[in-house]
Amino acid sequence: MSSDFERNLEKYAEVILKVGLNLQPKQRLLIGGPSITGDGISFGTAPLVRIIAKKAYQMGARLVDVVWADERMRLIRFQYGPKKSLREYPKWKIDARLENLKAGDASLGIMSPNPDLLKDVDLSVILKFSLFMIKHLRPVSDLVSQFASNWLIISTPNKAWADKILPHIPSNERVQKLWDIIFEICRITEENPISAWQNHNENLKKRCNYLNQKQYKALKLTSPETDLTVGLPKDHVWDGGGVTSQNGIDFTANLPTEEIFTLPDKDQVDGVVKTTRPVLIQGQVIEGCIFKFSKGHIIEANATVGDDVIDKLINIDEGARRLGEVALVPHSSPISQTGLLFYNILLDENASNHIAIGQAYRNSLKNGKALTDEEFMAAGGNNSSIHLDLMIGSGEMSVDGVLEDGTTEPIMRNGEWVFEV
Ligand code: ZN
Ligand code: ZN
Repeated sequence: MSSDFERNLEKYAEVILKVGLNLQPKQRLLIGGPSITGDGISFGTAPLVRIIAKKAYQMGARLVDVVWADERMRLIRFQYGPKKSLREYPKWKIDARLENLKAGDASLGIMSPNPDLLKDVDLSVILKFSLFMIKHLRPVSDLVSQFASNWLIISTPNKAWADKILPHIPSNERVQKLWDIIFEICRITEENPISAWQNHNENLKKRCNYLNQKQYKALKLTSPETDLTVGLPKDHVWDGGGVTSQNGIDFTANLPTEEIFTLPDKDQVDGVVKTTRPVLIQGQVIEGCIFKFSKGHIIEANATVGDDVIDKLINIDEGARRLGEVALVPHSSPISQTGLLFYNILLDENASNHIAIGQAYRNSLKNGKALTDEEFMAAGGNNSSIHLDLMIGSGEMSVDGVLEDGTTEPIMRNGEWVFEV
């Protein structure tokens, strides 16, 4: 390992603790899901976790705890476990997360995906398993999405992932190259990464404030392949960059993050939209999706690759045919500039304007958290057991805001912001 790499790892840990989590003195930190992949612990993941733990204690953490995971255990379960037991989920895992969130502890999730791991498993088995898991974890995800406490998701490389996205460079250089890319897009290579993040988050916040004041009644997204009108409900809230937890901690839930997002009206989406980047769902690629919307409902869906997967997904429940998020990301975002497809939604969604079918965020509506499911839906919010982000942006996309009187104002041209903040 080069000393440059070690220095960057230290800086990454610092950004994770200070910008991502904003870990507070006396807080406890639970680290979950650093994957063990390939034939050993992913290069760098364990050293990174140890650096994070050391620094967390230096910042005054009371306890740093790690739950290691092994993605291959899931594959082994699908291959050899009894199919009838897919609904089994260990309660202690749910209790651990609930205890963490209710106690106001910090939590860090580490994603280190092996994109092709589940490609030979029957999709309906994966979907069935995923839906049971989502159901079991609902009390946890409710607290997470309400920002009960400060949490963060980051990515770390592994060999299988690096092989998938960097096949054009020599095999033995891929993992290191992926680390370098992650350092780059997480602003770790900037002179002062902490202040770079503060500036970036401030810029996102100003863009949110601008759009929140405008209260456009709809967005119009157009490109050679897309002509979509997305209605925005009254009192929709644009959010992005940093957020504040219920226990008063300012944190940034995803690193990197480039998006600002809000609530689409689940009944007011019309037109045609085509995805511009493939998405990978449990090993299955979906590419070139074209959706036709009428009154918020997907009335037609086709894909050049993964047509059957999309068909299964939008038929999971009523909300899976409607939008739960619309997000804006400039085409010049550092992630987009890498020119890579990451097969990791945390990174890919931050490279492009996107929409999500399925569950909406309560925080995207003023006082949304206080509403019942029925009230939230009546106000335009969507409810579903899935939330699938689909990238639709490009350097050819225009976005306009529609005012109450029907006139429009430009928000983006050629994929870039046109308003100053
Ligand atoms: Zn998003
Ligand atoms: Zn999303």
